[in-house]
Amino acid sequence: MLGLMQDWPLLLHRIIDHAAIQHGTREVVSRAVEDGALRRRSYVEIRSRALKVAKRLQREGIALGDRIATLAWNTDRHLELWYGISGIGAITHTVNPRLFPEQIAWIVGHAEDRLLFLDLTFVPMIEAIQDKLPSIERYVVLTDAAHMPQTGLRNAVAYEDWLAESDDDFAWGRFDENTAAGLCYTSGTTGGPKGVLYSHRSNVLHALACAAPDYMGLSARDTVMPVVPLFHANSWSLAYSAPMTGAKLVMPGARLDGPSLHQLLEEEGVTMTAAVPTVWLGLLQHLEATNGKLSTLKRVVIGGSACPRAMTETFERKFGVTVAHAWGMTEMSPLGSFCSLKPVYEGLSGDALYDLKVKQGHPPFTVEFRLTDDAGTDLPWDGRTFGRLKVRGPAVAGGYYRRGDDILDDRGFFDTGDVATIDPAGYMQVTDRSKDVIKSGGEWISSIDLENLAVGHPDVAEAAVIGVAHPKWDERPLLVIVPKPGRTPGKDEILAFMTGKIAKWWLPDDVVLVEAIPHTATGKIQKTKLREMFRDYRLPG
Ligand code: AMP
Repeated sequence: MLGLMQDWPLLLHRIIDHAAIQHGTREVVSRAVEDGALRRRSYVEIRSRALKVAKRLQREGIALGDRIATLAWNTDRHLELWYGISGIGAITHTVNPRLFPEQIAWIVGHAEDRLLFLDLTFVPMIEAIQDKLPSIERYVVLTDAAHMPQTGLRNAVAYEDWLAESDDDFAWGRFDENTAAGLCYTSGTTGGPKGVLYSHRSNVLHALACAAPDYMGLSARDTVMPVVPLFHANSWSLAYSAPMTGAKLVMPGARLDGPSLHQLLEEEGVTMTAAVPTVWLGLLQHLEATNGKLSTLKRVVIGGSACPRAMTETFERKFGVTVAHAWGMTEMSPLGSFCSLKPVYEGLSGDALYDLKVKQGHPPFTVEFRLTDDAGTDLPWDGRTFGRLKVRGPAVAGGYYRRGDDILDDRGFFDTGDVATIDPAGYMQVTDRSKDVIKSGGEWISSIDLENLAVGHPDVAEAAVIGVAHPKWDERPLLVIVPKPGRTPGKDEILAFMTGKIAKWWLPDDVVLVEAIPHTATGKIQKTKLREMFRDYRLPG
């Protein structure tokens, strides 16, 4: 027997409708890409402009299932495009501008995108590869006539002119909630990039799960600044979960440096923000240099790569800002877990609390965990045994776009490629990416644990650990460090700092200082590149 409740498909435009009706005057503040000035709109205006986008797209001949690429920063225009594109059942393909131009050409071709909306920043890059983008019928530059550059891009038009040919007298499309809404390619460190195709239903369920108190913890009283880009897996849900709850949105545009972010945090009264650790490194260095304060910020969500313990302690102890360590991946929409306190851990304080906070935490409802060995046998959740972390849920990929391979195990779980432990309270801790773990004498050493420890040293800004070949032990850890400006910590000093805090045989065999550590397009330490840089490296002795 079926239930007798209404048929109300979980469609994404219902979110912006709700924001406009219930929280209509709440602001979306954006830093303009043109000149860095702040632009203010309300949810009523964003919805109206999203409807115009939808109507204008239809006039352009865009229909259900067509892919539309965006190459854009976090701004109001990018936000209204998202809702407008998916509002007619077309698919927003968020392209990561930090990819190499050849990779961009590859994924745009693979997706067969028909239109490309791009910020001014990216016009020269796209002009250079235009002949490799045959599927693009028209380029829409996200600016107005006054700022429109001279360009040879095919059928180029300024976004505001394009939009002015439309009005908001339009009804959203009606289609099944399983219709595709968004496409995001994983960075593809192994093999070609792989497309993850989100649906309306998966994004709505994901946003609901994220908004809950133990996760993003959003409310109508929050002011949320997603520093994490819309092109990095749905800005970790914030472009949906903030309007869903009526939170004010602050979009930082192209300026993600410490001083620019600090200005927005303070002047716009931001209460919650989210990004990868490297972004916060820039902010904390700026605060240290200027003796700055964080007077309104309450919570910062840090994920995408392991949040160093020292970073959590600085935010919490020095600035009174609670850190929520989060883990996820593009294939999970992306949220997988959050380190918030369950009652069993509620009384923790001091070191014990920060020991817990280096863990990646527990999954929300809609995400299931499994820990197995290589043969697929379940492993105990004892906080010590590590194995392959596998996940299942309505916002987890079941396959990749236009690839036939079966990516799920016999019970329907997706292997994350992360090696992890899970403790009896259900808290997961990532030991490493399976390909980054250091295999020394048949035992495993966690590069993440060593990096975490090394950045606790007062002279270290950033640290990365890789395994290098060793004649006796197969691999031994090499610690690569970026020192803080003006500091030159010695190897012995660093190793002495780490001694006693980890098993003796985990201590790195050598420490090397470098000016910069390479990062991926989503701001993670690029271990493949680092291993290449140190391919011929010989450990001392
Ligand atoms: P991506 O799909 O590019 O976002 O990459 C996902 C991968 O990033 C995960 O499988 C993890 O290896 C890594 N990752 C994300 N968040 C964390 C975290 N908090 N700690 C450690 N690794 C993380």
